[in-house]
Amino acid sequence: MQVVYSPAHLGHDIDTETVMGLGIPANEVAERAEKIRSALEADGGFDLTGPTDHGEDPITAVHDPGLVRFLEEAWSEARSQGIGRPFLAADTYPNRAMFEGMSPEAMERLVREPRHVGGRAGFWGLDTAAPLVAGTYVAARAAVDVALTTVDLVLGGQTAAYGLCRPPGHHAARAMYGGYCFFNNAAIAAHAITQATGERVAILDVDYHHGNGSQQIFWRRGDVRYVSIHADPERQYPFFLGRADETGEGEGAGENLNIPLAAGATNADYLEATDRALEAIAAVPGSVVVVSLGFDTYGLDPIGDFALTTDVYHEVGRRVAALGRRLVILQEGGYHRPSLGENARAWLRGAEGRDFDPLPSAGFSPGGAVAG
Ligand SMILES: [Zn+2]
Repeated sequence: MQVVYSPAHLGHDIDTETVMGLGIPANEVAERAEKIRSALEADGGFDLTGPTDHGEDPITAVHDPGLVRFLEEAWSEARSQGIGRPFLAADTYPNRAMFEGMSPEAMERLVREPRHVGGRAGFWGLDTAAPLVAGTYVAARAAVDVALTTVDLVLGGQTAAYGLCRPPGHHAARAMYGGYCFFNNAAIAAHAITQATGERVAILDVDYHHGNGSQQIFWRRGDVRYVSIHADPERQYPFFLGRADETGEGEGAGENLNIPLAAGATNADYLEATDRALEAIAAVPGSVVVVSLGFDTYGLDPIGDFALTTDVYHEVGRRVAALGRRLVILQEGGYHRPSLGENARAWLRGAEGRDFDPLPSAGFSPGGAVAG
């Protein structure tokens, strides 16, 4: 399988993130993508290639140009405004209740981007979980190019290709970044496929978290079906979207399928949900599926609470490929670094119909345990 990778992600590395106001060692770090890259290289069955530059148009086809400008300028703005922090994160957001009772006309005037870069971060951001550093914009642009180059490979005739996107994307909405995500790589890819083929496209999101950004972007569209298996937002980020009764509106009515799972979800629970998701995708026409691939569903993941093991990723990859559609597979989350490479290798080998055996060097058993 062809793998698209860019070292530009290395410029977006972070030591610390905040969870409920407390600084903790960051989870979404550059080492994640490097772990996956080295495991795929060690496998010998994957060909790494660099992305090609696709420019800004495919991004603004999905995202507000104001968001693009903010992300481009944010770091130099922070410096020129004398904010000497190691990263930029907001702490004030325009909560909907701040404007309660004000008319839509008043809202139009009042809800606007301020000049202070911390305020701008709050205007465009969802949360404090997407710290921005000097290399963030370049990395986020490269992740989009990785996704779009993966699309090119698949539309060029490959049955499946994998884009090692970092930063991830599925929490980024049309006019919002957040949750480690800046541009929505999968949504940009799905939209580009609809434009290039005139076909319907499905997004299968198997990250542990609900892809609120992907849902929002395609909520009213009849040409992109979004199907997600994730932790119930009653107990997990992103908390405010991802419930089973969110099904789309207008032309998108019935095109959004959320499958929330309880804590402790097992391999069997997950495969049952996978079959349901694949049925929903098979029910509509289209020849390409975009997979938002996350491994924070893994039993040892530091921020997840599912109980999946490596062998189930091989089986999920196999079942997704059995749909008989071409696959644009894009990396999202997954934060247990020792297992990431093996989990990705298992999934992708499953999608190619190859067996999976753990690499001897991985110190790793597919039952879920990590040696040492
Ligand atoms: Zn996730």
